[in-house]
Amino acid sequence: MAAEENPGVDVDEYGLAPDETLCGCCYDTVKRAALVASPCPHNPEAYAGMPIGMYHCPSCGVMVLAGSAHPTVCLECAEKLRANLSLDKGKTGT
Ligand SMILES: [Zn+2]
Ligand SMILES: [Zn+2]
Repeated sequence: MAAEENPGVDVDEYGLAPDETLCGCCYDTVKRAALVASPCPHNPEAYAGMPIGMYHCPSCGVMVLAGSAHPTVCLECAEKLRANLSLDKGKTGT
């Protein structure tokens, strides 16, 4: 295999540059600076210590470790989530 490392370019196991990371929703590679907090109002943090392991968010569908916050998402996903969440609200009336 290619044993030659590229010195100076520090990539992690996903082959990402240090200033890149994965969107917690679509798993696209994005710049860290471009990620925003998930607009989802659910709180997987509240499930810390519960024996459920993974928390499957009923609102945005993301899977996170129970007790940890929603992953940060790219702007596109944030937009989509926001749109979905407002549709949900529309059903129950404002
Ligand atoms: Zn995304
Ligand atoms: Zn959520």
